[in-house]
Amino acid sequence: MKLTDKFSEGETLFAFELLPPLKGDKIDTLYNSIDALREYSPSYINITYHREEIKLIERENGLLERQVVRKRPGTVGISAAIQGRYGIDVVPHLICGGFSAMDTEDALIEMNFLGIDNVLALRGDNVRGEHSFRQVEGGHTHASELVSQIKDLNAGKYLSGEVQNPTPTDFCIGVAGYPEKHAESPNMTSDIARLKEKVEAGAHYIVTQMFFDNSRFFDFEKKCRQEGITVPIIPGIKPFSTKAQLHILPEVFGVNIPEELVSEVEKATDKAAVRRVGELWAIQQCRELKKHGVPALHFYTMSRADNVAEVVKNVF
Ligand code: FAD
Repeated sequence: MKLTDKFSEGETLFAFELLPPLKGDKIDTLYNSIDALREYSPSYINITYHREEIKLIERENGLLERQVVRKRPGTVGISAAIQGRYGIDVVPHLICGGFSAMDTEDALIEMNFLGIDNVLALRGDNVRGEHSFRQVEGGHTHASELVSQIKDLNAGKYLSGEVQNPTPTDFCIGVAGYPEKHAESPNMTSDIARLKEKVEAGAHYIVTQMFFDNSRFFDFEKKCRQEGITVPIIPGIKPFSTKAQLHILPEVFGVNIPEELVSEVEKATDKAAVRRVGELWAIQQCRELKKHGVPALHFYTMSRADNVAEVVKNVF
């Protein structure tokens, strides 16, 4: 079922995001996370996509060798496995990085054959160690181009143009939004203008980066509406869970941690206490967002389900 059909039912939905297991691990680790959250009736599950990374290996002669590694493969297969096993709708993430338009088309055809109706279209991050995003030959530079390709396929327009009687796909397309702006954007106005381009290219809804201060989300939503973006906007929630995240989350995701949360985390005397602070903070955030009438709450599990379960139990 398409997410936009779910959103139109009116109730705030519960959804969460999982990472594929590390290469060599079993899929059971993922099933365990889903089992822990299943009793809260998740409406859909997102599966992230991880592009290749460059690893530098020191050879015996002291020279460094570049090796391409992919740590978390299997997004499309995992999505289909989850949908088949649990009957819960899935949203595989699809990125521009590492994909030519032809690779993208192949992945979409595969998803369509597997009965997947939803996709989150992203540019993807830079290859670790590179200071700017680089597309492969024949690949897309921005998520808006990927959205256009999916929209074309939804209209039966395949790349080669040589398909006789093409069957259109019918993907519901999501894109990313940033309540505190994307790190590479010069300012919020410019970032929202880019977001609008993604919607005009064919995106049906927006999921946001995590944030810890709801006023950032409300301001962002207001600005989007003022600029004529009318599609559903789904807040992304991450229950804070370790002291190290005080530095990691702002550095990696460009998010601001409110002073009150920082002070509560710093006062916590052990790991369990930090997790409790994070859970209570997320419960408060979610209750307010639900009251505001958001279509869904999208939880970033980062492969841990226990704290998300604790939050959801207190919100839904
Ligand atoms: P874009 O929309 O292309 O924007 C990237 C930057 O380019 C922005 O600064 C934007 O303002 C600017 N821009 C856009 N269009 C133009 C243009 N035409 N000209 C000039 N500038 C432009 N990453 C992964 O690798 N895998 C995942 O599974 C994944 N899941 C995510 C899920 C969510 C909900 C979110 C919020 C992010 C996720 N990311 C993931 C991270 C995402 O890939 C990065 O944030 C990435 O840096 C930007 O992706 P985007 O789709 O927002 O890019």
